[in-house]
Amino acid sequence: MRTDVIRKSVAALRVEPNLKAGDMAGASFSWAGIRDELGVSPGSPMNIGQLAVDRHAHGDAGTRTAFRFLPVEGAPRDVSYAELARLSNRFANALRSLGVGRGERVFVLAGRIPELYVAVLGALKNGSVVSPLFSAFGPDPIATRIRIGECRVMVTTAGIFARKLAALRESLPSLQHVLVVPEPDGTPVPAGTLDLAELMAAASDEFTVVPTGPEDPALLHFTSGTTGTPKGALHVHEAALTHFATGRHALDLHADDIFWCTADPGWVTGMSYGILAPLLHGVTSIVDEADFDAERWYRILEAQRVSVWYTAPTAIRMLMKAGPELRRRFDFPQLRFVASVGEPLNPEAVWWGEEVLGLPIHDNWWQTETGGIMIANLAAFDIKPGSMGLPLPGVDALIVRHADDGQVEIVQQPDTVGELALRGRWPSLFRAYLGQDERYRKCFAGDLYLTGDLARRDADGHFWFVGRSDDVIKSSGHLIGPFEIESVLLEHPAVAEAGVIGKPDPTVGEVVKAFVSLKPGFEPDDALRRQLLGHARKRLGAAVAPKEIAFLPTLPRTRSGKIMRRLLKARELGLPEGDTSTLEAGA
Ligand code: AMP
Repeated sequence: MRTDVIRKSVAALRVEPNLKAGDMAGASFSWAGIRDELGVSPGSPMNIGQLAVDRHAHGDAGTRTAFRFLPVEGAPRDVSYAELARLSNRFANALRSLGVGRGERVFVLAGRIPELYVAVLGALKNGSVVSPLFSAFGPDPIATRIRIGECRVMVTTAGIFARKLAALRESLPSLQHVLVVPEPDGTPVPAGTLDLAELMAAASDEFTVVPTGPEDPALLHFTSGTTGTPKGALHVHEAALTHFATGRHALDLHADDIFWCTADPGWVTGMSYGILAPLLHGVTSIVDEADFDAERWYRILEAQRVSVWYTAPTAIRMLMKAGPELRRRFDFPQLRFVASVGEPLNPEAVWWGEEVLGLPIHDNWWQTETGGIMIANLAAFDIKPGSMGLPLPGVDALIVRHADDGQVEIVQQPDTVGELALRGRWPSLFRAYLGQDERYRKCFAGDLYLTGDLARRDADGHFWFVGRSDDVIKSSGHLIGPFEIESVLLEHPAVAEAGVIGKPDPTVGEVVKAFVSLKPGFEPDDALRRQLLGHARKRLGAAVAPKEIAFLPTLPRTRSGKIMRRLLKARELGLPEGDTSTLEAGA
């Protein structure tokens, strides 16, 4: 019979788990211990690229496959640790030949192709700061991020350059070099860009890694808030300690694992766990260049003998939709651990894992700012389906409440909803929102980092996600800021006001829905709706643009003039409107 807990027995696990109940007492864990294991001594240089790749590049370890790239069609391409070291050295030398050095920003904008992975690791070794952009973004989000991040080098493909960047290039003064992966048919790269293949061929594969310090910036990840421009969360080389520790504790990585993280490297999960954590552990990662397809994914689990799989709730729900018969056509006995992140994982999905996949799904929680997994369901621990799990060793998670006098108080009472906060400063905690000091400072209260998520902790110490304390939207696991969408809609000549919400959706979590009011002289008809949807898609990219647009005569605003997205959402869902005392009369 189904209980509300999935019981685990260590004896029944196929490998000895990295973390057992006794280890959670915390005494055995220290960041200094992790540093020792990675061979970094306090005060000496440390570079994520070197730790992830070069550390494994010699001797037998060098022959191990670091990445197996599965192209959309055709044979897989394996890249060993030794080859990855040489290729990333070439890229670092190519950057150096262009005069690009320490601290300068190198952006990558491409699908899951080998060149992207090489560029990320080479740029890190060169001491440059890497910023990945989601390749499904349209020109507007790309340009905004290039400007905020003062991108000096962009690595992309000829097709993406032509569709999204060529027309903007002149308006982006910081962007000095665009390195383009050439088309396989030999077409020359577009004017004004450099051929990445030629640069790589001309570069040496010997490189002395730039001796960055633990606090030197390494990664810049863009994330969205409720208002204003996107925020560039800056992470430092020391973050590698968190990537390594959490790969061990939360993902239970062992040396001979075949690991598949399905997240796109345009987002933080695809960077921290699609690239860095598995390399730090010297394991083999599968990278699939194709988009989601249920049958293809089961085939990959089977054919690639994946042992640890890190995926996301939307993908799991799509596999659930594809039905159990499809799953039964495949056999993947090597798979021993499945984890998920990015959005709430409903208990049904955890149970579907247990019953249909043959393994429960281990939900875990973190966010761009934390740089790595903070709270997780673990291999050797019972699962309460619907819970995000327990704080990892080295993580001090608590629930806080904001008192009327502005003070932040720690809530001791179990099962009380409040804001999730994390105490202290761990290696992968973001060190800045680029150029937005005030916004950064507001995330902290004393030694507490305030996450912006609402949660509760039960009497056993398990954390349960309740919701966001702001209006950002999570669609297919991607964080979307309503303000960026509203701004693009407002640029259309017909639009007077725009308010954007996340509308709950059983598969992708939330879909983006926009409400607009029109300027005089425009008719709220289907033709205009299609025009607005097309305008938004062209400018923002299909992954971000609204899926639905509704016309309203006027949008509800507070007396201070802010659009009340919460009220739009409550009305959309037929929920109580809550406190409307600040609502402007007549709205
Ligand atoms: P991002 O910074 O894009 O990684 O998004 C982080 C946000 O995603 C968090 O602040 C949460 O709102 C949400 N999130 C991440 N993991 C989970 C989870 N396991 N359950 C519920 N929400 C999650």
